[in-house]
Order: sequence, then structure tokens, then C-alpha cells
Amino acid sequence: MKMQLAEIAKALNSSVNMGEDKVITSVVFDSRKATPNSLFIPLAGVRDGHDFVSNAMANGAEATLWKKGHEGKPTDVPVIEVEDPLTALQSLAKYYLGKVNPTVVGITGSNGKTTTKDMVAAVLAKRFNVHKTQANFNNEIGVPVTILEMKPSTEILVLEMGMDRPGQLHHLSELVRPDVCVITMIGEAHIEFFGTRDKIADAKMEITDFLKEDGKFIYNGDEPLLEERAAKIKQDKSTFGFREEDTVFATTFRSYMHHATFEINDSEQQFKIPMIGKHNVSNALAAISVGRHFGENDEQIAQALANFTPTANRMQWKKGDVGEAIMDDVYNSNPTAVKAVTTSFGQVMVQDGGRRIAVLGDMLELGDESAELHASLANALDPAIINELYLYGPEMKNLYDALVDKYPAANLHYYPQDEMNHMIDDLKNDIKPADIVMLKGSHGMHLEKVLDRLM
Ligand code: ATP
Ligand code: MG
Repeated sequence: MKMQLAEIAKALNSSVNMGEDKVITSVVFDSRKATPNSLFIPLAGVRDGHDFVSNAMANGAEATLWKKGHEGKPTDVPVIEVEDPLTALQSLAKYYLGKVNPTVVGITGSNGKTTTKDMVAAVLAKRFNVHKTQANFNNEIGVPVTILEMKPSTEILVLEMGMDRPGQLHHLSELVRPDVCVITMIGEAHIEFFGTRDKIADAKMEITDFLKEDGKFIYNGDEPLLEERAAKIKQDKSTFGFREEDTVFATTFRSYMHHATFEINDSEQQFKIPMIGKHNVSNALAAISVGRHFGENDEQIAQALANFTPTANRMQWKKGDVGEAIMDDVYNSNPTAVKAVTTSFGQVMVQDGGRRIAVLGDMLELGDESAELHASLANALDPAIINELYLYGPEMKNLYDALVDKYPAANLHYYPQDEMNHMIDDLKNDIKPADIVMLKGSHGMHLEKVLDRLM
């Protein structure tokens, strides 16, 4: 952005006490990150942002917002008084959005927002000036900041829009008034707060509350909760997924070590993405739908998808001493993540004679539900797909007990916490050159020690 203080003050229905013609090119909330030409926004956090105004100014900020009536208002620097700094940030974003007036694509969903956002931006960047959400800045602060970071020449704004409570997407939708809304999927994230998946679906649908009259709604057609709710949307709609009823659906799917390939209905084009897992193909189908909406042809879309750079992916392949490769995901663990990662790992093609070996450590901090949640992973594990299972830690004993009838005894291994070295020795004896291995557990289980010894 590039605006003078006077224009900003006017957009906020306020005035500035001095420095009207100073030029502002960014907003900051962390006083340590203030730079020349920045406007400081004092937000309420662990500490009140107003306490850091002088720091921000010392670090080069040109001006600050100030909550009306808040004590200690500085008189020697440019100040714009507002009712509430967070609301003012959103109002300023709304003003700037109207001024630049790009076409807005809003993306939400329980999982896959960031990935889909990056894919959509890559597809559209072939022909348009695209600005997108950086990293994961998808909330009531991140969305306005993303808007204010956009260049005046932006033609399409691709926004990741997150929520963890009802009403939040309604509010964000009102702020951005999307031309295209995408819902990637409905999962279980935040279910402890919402209670049911129905309520999560309702809250996700709020993204369409301010969808433009001539806008487009693109959603995961394989989710009945969305199908049901989409019936009420009168704007143009299309679906993606893996069913023949979907507007765009995958007809084939193959997952390799580092990439996945797929084909879709009504197209000769082969598609490839530099990520593994069927869930990422689903994200790519959403991106194809958006690309087609903007008139991209399948060849251009396929090129963009094959070459896009995903935001840091936690699942990383390492080369071990023995074995084809090791998927390192030892940083953290929870039930949904274990299921997604083991499913993706299960879809990776192995060479002839190779096996998939999973090493799972305890998922910590699950409270009263821990035993049950560990045991519940049994549904996601199949000896025909995850051929060998090494379970490590006291909580994993619950999963072991749940699997003794499902897995041949020779392929199911359990180790208490003080037997890590024993497990590593057994693993080293077991792993053959064509095998692939995955390691996943909570950080406190220190599976990185297993990784170190295998490499
Ligand atoms: P956040 O809520 O943290 O912003 P997000 O919705 O942006 O998450 P991504 O960062 O794209 O999601 O992906 C996070 C993880 O969710 C991935 O590592 C993968 O395990 C899982 N995931 C991604 N896409 C899907 C999908 N379409 N369906 C199910 N799981 C998915
Ligand atoms: Mg995200």
C-alpha cells in the first residue's frame, strides 16, 4: 500500500494531529518490527500495544493509531485516534481493498487452506497480477494485513480465511466480499469447541454470506454436509472431488515418493503435483476449478501445479543408511495428523519387494481421552498397506492391544519407553534396501534419536 496519513485518517473517519503528508507503506503491531513508513497499530495482546508506541516510533514508525480515551496519548508524534485499533485496521483494509478493487478469491476449510491457496495463486499468476496470503495469516488480523500488503496493480487477491468460532467467517466475508469462495473440506478441527461436524459446516458456509451476486461457489462435492448447504446458495456453483457427480473429479491417482499424478474427467491433460497424498490431489482439484473459472486452460494449469512451491511441508524424506527413504515427521503428533500422514505414506509406491514400515511414538497431551484416541488409530492401519508397525511408548500400548487381532504377530512390535535402543537395534536389523520408513510421534518422545541412528 501507499497512502498519506491524511488519507488514512479520513478513511478511518478521524484526523491526524501532525504529519498529514507522511507516506505510509505498511502497518505493524510488533514495535520491534517497525520500519520507516510504517503505521503502528496498538493491539491488545498479552500486553497492551499502547505501551509500545514509543518503542515503535524509536524504531522508525511514522505514526500510530490510539484508542480514544486511552490514557497517556503522546502529543509529540503523529497520532490518529480511533474507537478501536483492531476494527480500524479492518476498516482501513476495507477502504484499501475498495481502492485497488481486485477480484477476490476466499479459501476456507478445516484442512488444506494454505496448500490450496498456494496452488490457486500459482495457477492464476500465469496470466494475472496475483497477491496472496503469506504463510498462514488467515484470521481477523492476518486478512486485513494481507490486504494492506497488496500492490495497487493487484488483479486477483487470493485469501486464506480461517476460523475457530461461529461468526468469524461471516465477519471476514463481509470485510472482503469475495467473488469466488472455496471450501476445501470439513474435518474435525476445533470439534471440542463446536460439538458437531454440522456446526463446523455451518460456520464454514459463512464464507459465502457476502459472496457477490455474480460470484462463484466452489466446494468439495464429496462432503454431504456441504452438498446439503450448497442447495441454498443461488450463485453459480461447481464441485470437485472423486465422485462422478462432481464437476471436476479425479479419474486416476498415483502417489510416488515426492509427487503425485492424476487425471480428471473431460480432459486429456496429465496433472502432477510436487506433494504426496490424495488429500493434496483434492486441493489441486479445487485449484483446477478456480483456474478454469478464470479461463485458464488445462495445460497452463497443469504447468503451474507441477512447479508450484508449497509452504513448508512438515513431512520430509531423508536418506537412511539402509532402506529407500525415511519420512521424518517427528516434530509433533495428534490423531488427525497421524491418520493423514499414514494414509499418504500408505499411498507411496514402493519398489518390488519393498515394505512400508511405520514407527509411531506416543501422542502426548491428550488428557482423559488419551487411551481411547491411541486405540482409535487402529482403524487407519492395515497390514496390507502399512506392512510393519513399531509402536513406542506407554500410550501406544493401547494401540498395540487394539491391533493384536488385525496384525500378524511378526509384523507388530511394541516397545516401552525405556526400550528405545532395543527398538532401534531391531529396526536396523529389519530394514531392507527397498523399504520405506516413516517416523511420527510427539516431540517429547524424541523419535529424532531413532532418525539419527538410522541415518
Ligand atoms: P491451518 O488450519 O493450520 O491453517 P490449513 O487448512 O491451511 O491448516 P494446510 O497447511 O494446507 O492446511 O495442510 C495442513 C495439513 O492438513 C497437511 O499437512 C495435511 O496433513 C492435511 N491436509 C491438507 N489438505 C487436506 C485435505 N484436503 N483433506 C484432509 N487433510 C488435508
Ligand atoms: Mg493454513
